Amino acid sequence: MDAISLAYRDALNYASQRAFELDKTSSAPRLHKAVYADLRAQFGLGAQLACTVERQVAATYQTQWTKLKQNLKAREASHTKRRYKGLDAAPKFVSRTLEYQHGRDYSWKKGGKVSISTLDGRLVLEYEGYQKHLDCIARGCETGAAKLYHQKSKKRYYLIVAVHIDLPDPQPVGHSNVVGVDVGQRYHFVATDKDGKSLFEKGAQVRQQKDHFARTKKALQRKGTRSATRRLVMLSGRERRFIADRNHTLAKMLLTRFPNSIFGLEDLSSIRERIERHADPKVSKKVKRTKRHQSQWSFAELQTMLAYKAPLYGSLAVRVDANYTSQACYKCGHVSRGNRPNAGLEFKCEACGHRGHADRVASVNIALRTLLVRQDWMSTGALSMRPDVSDGEASRPHSGCRSAQEVKAARLRRYAELRWNPDTSA
Ligand SMILES: [Zn+2]
Repeated sequence: MDAISLAYRDALNYASQRAFELDKTSSAPRLHKAVYADLRAQFGLGAQLACTVERQVAATYQTQWTKLKQNLKAREASHTKRRYKGLDAAPKFVSRTLEYQHGRDYSWKKGGKVSISTLDGRLVLEYEGYQKHLDCIARGCETGAAKLYHQKSKKRYYLIVAVHIDLPDPQPVGHSNVVGVDVGQRYHFVATDKDGKSLFEKGAQVRQQKDHFARTKKALQRKGTRSATRRLVMLSGRERRFIADRNHTLAKMLLTRFPNSIFGLEDLSSIRERIERHADPKVSKKVKRTKRHQSQWSFAELQTMLAYKAPLYGSLAVRVDANYTSQACYKCGHVSRGNRPNAGLEFKCEACGHRGHADRVASVNIALRTLLVRQDWMSTGALSMRPDVSDGEASRPHSGCRSAQEVKAARLRRYAELRWNPDTSA
């Protein structure tokens, strides 16, 4: 195992160096011509793993080029003065995680065993894991690429396998409840369903933990010694896992509390505004930026987890417009910043006097918007959050003679856009 994972890492670095010499190419075919023979001979990799190395390096260069172009644009628009340095030298790979393709580098054997390829041929091992997933593998459900991950502290290897779970295409009638989810700082989430039942999850405890992480990190940064840096790396890993773990729990909590539901999640671009609005003017720009970054990140993660777990609970997550969700009165429709006296936790409608918990008001508004999505879905058969989407399509030439297949393809495309897609929301 050590031999193959280290050979894989060295091969990545070798290919990265060669790609750098080839005008920093991000083309896998070009890289293939240059390095394939070497990867096989010098590093002893199998054909499939050699191709995976090429693909991974090419993809890394692709990302770097994209970042570089974004940076150029940002500098032209004077959003930043900093120059992106990611392509000044060949990107270096430090992790020895290697990717196995199913059927080529690894395969399932009878009797709960898995066979994986190493430099010295195949290794057949027993495996264990989460029972639900093991059952799924035993039933023969499709598995994709797997990662061989090395945990440094325990000197142990893990095989992380992606399991594809086939679920039926969701139908509007199957989703009897509608839930609006408001995410925020004071409360991790406030969720309200169509009957007005709410679930509050306080953020205080986690905020304390987060503050603790922040304080310790700051102290270590100030120290600046090598051991301090090492501890800093460990700490940020721990913090990341802590938040991820927390988000898993929160997502599960919501999904079990409201089964067979359509979950309305806010479009996250509005989060930024909201935080800026509450921010203390004395706080420096830089602090604001890091704050914004952190909060945006963990909210996005919670939403992503909700979205990908939802189908397992017979539910579905959709994105809804988040404008004014915290300023709109759901009793009379009056929208005003004045509905939030002192931008506090209380909502008090200027027009009708309705009072409530501000975050709950926001979640009710989100639930209402989600209800609209469902109505639209039931009446048109297409999952849409904007009624004007179909207009755009109808204006296309020859739209009148589209085949049923084309219509279905268009519906699926739109559907893909509207569902929370875990891949694109990060
Ligand atoms: Zn009102």
